[in-house]
Amino acid sequence: MQTKQKLLLIVTIMLLLLTGATIINVGLNFRNYSIINAKEKAKMVAAVVKDGLTAHMVNGIMDKRQYFLDQISTNNEYIKSLWIVRSQNVIKQYGKGFHSETVRDAIDKKVLSNGKAINQIDETADKTMLRVTIPYNAIITNNSAKCLECHNVNAGDTLGAISMELNISGMRSNGIFAITKIISLNLIFILIVLYLINRYITPYMKLFSNIQTGIKKAYSGDFTHEFETTVGGEGGDIALQMNELFKKMQSTFGDIKYNLATFIPQGTVSGNDPLYEAKTIIKELSDIYKFKKTIELDDSKELVYTRIVAVLKNKYNLKHLSLYEIDTRKNRRNLIFSSEEPAICHKEIDNDAGLCRAYRTQTDIISTDFDKLCQNCDLCDTNHKNYICIPFTINDDNALILSLSTENKADINSINAKIPSIRNYLEAAKPVIESKLLMSQLRDTSLRDGMTGLYNRRFLEEFIDQVMQQATRDKQTYSVMMLDVDFFKMVNDTYGHDVGDKVIVAIGELLRSSIRESDLAIRYGGEEFVILLHNTDKEGTQLVAKKIHESFAQLVFDVGNGETLSKTLSIGIANFPTDGDTIWKAIKFADTALYVAKTTGRDKIVNYKPEMSEGGELR
Ligand code: GH3
Ligand code: MG
Ligand code: MG
Repeated sequence: MQTKQKLLLIVTIMLLLLTGATIINVGLNFRNYSIINAKEKAKMVAAVVKDGLTAHMVNGIMDKRQYFLDQISTNNEYIKSLWIVRSQNVIKQYGKGFHSETVRDAIDKKVLSNGKAINQIDETADKTMLRVTIPYNAIITNNSAKCLECHNVNAGDTLGAISMELNISGMRSNGIFAITKIISLNLIFILIVLYLINRYITPYMKLFSNIQTGIKKAYSGDFTHEFETTVGGEGGDIALQMNELFKKMQSTFGDIKYNLATFIPQGTVSGNDPLYEAKTIIKELSDIYKFKKTIELDDSKELVYTRIVAVLKNKYNLKHLSLYEIDTRKNRRNLIFSSEEPAICHKEIDNDAGLCRAYRTQTDIISTDFDKLCQNCDLCDTNHKNYICIPFTINDDNALILSLSTENKADINSINAKIPSIRNYLEAAKPVIESKLLMSQLRDTSLRDGMTGLYNRRFLEEFIDQVMQQATRDKQTYSVMMLDVDFFKMVNDTYGHDVGDKVIVAIGELLRSSIRESDLAIRYGGEEFVILLHNTDKEGTQLVAKKIHESFAQLVFDVGNGETLSKTLSIGIANFPTDGDTIWKAIKFADTALYVAKTTGRDKIVNYKPEMSEGGELR
């Protein structure tokens, strides 16, 4: 029921209750008043009759008394019958009287015997009668008419009684008429009140229900509702303010939703509530951001995979999963993780990745889509016949396959709903995995310097472009450090090449132990080295340079004959992409800075500045 109807109903019920109470009150009072009034009338008639009879007696016309009594009853519309009865005392003294004066009923009898008046109401559907019988008792008075002078009785004895039947139906109908008037007036009053309420409340009720509709729509994300009202004053202001607020919400949430949608692919979050969607997307973005930040600092590809598995298990509550890495060029599959032992998918596929349907077709393979969809899986001796296999390309050389399985077919749909969100994580991990894959590829190459074990210059020439492309795409940075031993030629000249080699080997060890796995150390030339520090800020780079610089200066080389030797390093530093927009340029600028270090005293660290390339300092 609407609020307005409720209000009208309550007001109507209250007014009807009030009317009812008034009617009951008036009805009861009216009845009492009618009866009291009739009794008073009867008393008056009794007194008149008494005086009349006394007068008849005194005047000796007692035999005319019936005429007198008839006159009284006929002249009074209420009195339907009136009679008098004699007590035994009077009968004994004066005889029985007229026939009409004999005792008619038990009431007459009782009143004559105890001298007390009796009133009795007889109510039927169509009339109300009041029967009154009042005794005439002998009393001693100072009046001219003295009872005991004529009657041989004692004071207080009952001489007779007068009985009347009064029809008080008229009084009752008067009461009903009065009540009818009250009801009519009340009904008119109720109608007027209802009309006024309806007239003045309706616009407010309309406004309320309008606001209610708008808020309901807003709750489901629709802020297009317009608030209209005919109410002026504060009500009108509310409608205007709500309209302003909704317009603002509509444009703000629209923008937020649009902007957030650019971060997260469609299908990740479902629903029509932009607030809920925004909240979910922001939470998703924040989780992915934290995930990405964490794996970026991870040293190895294996650790990144471990984190992906942890997310799948903890965030997505996936219990049965396998993660494979595919080497596209070799057409080989490598199991990274499996929750089952042995893994659910055929091991033979590892030797021929093309047998994997998800990898071959580059589509998600969902067992519920078609009976025996992946024939390999159907050959497997497992009760995990319900599965989703997702292919995910890392680069031209590498791909991942994520297999999710369940014993219960019904779970497939809920797993499938998680796929878009899982893909967001894989997408975030992609550049990191790619970079780690590249690194591990590099580590495996023979492009290393035999003496130090560091990468050689050829490596730099062959791979630096790949490293740079990926760095540019993923907005990574490299701090380039160029190091050269001061007056190294002197070592060879003074102590021979073997000692010189010893120093070079020591530098190799020092550099390797001073950098992280994601950094690169290259023997660039004779006793010249290049270090590429991955995603390391200025302060971090300075710290590493300082550490290498100081540690090398502290190295003590045994040159034979009890003699020792210590050397120093000069270091030049430049940054990719802030100083040079290619790594080659950054290397060149680091070399420029190194040249400045050499020409300004050696044994120092010099950071590249653009003005170094301008003047004659350039080598
Ligand atoms: P500067 O402070 O200007 O660098 O003086 P420097 O003497 O170090 O000059 P420079 O860098 O030009 O000298 C490089 C020398 O390193 C020349 C070469 O004899 C020596 N060298 C290059 N490769 C090797 C190597 O593999 N073993 C040894 N023992 N010496 C090498
Ligand atoms: Mg040198
Ligand atoms: Mg040199």
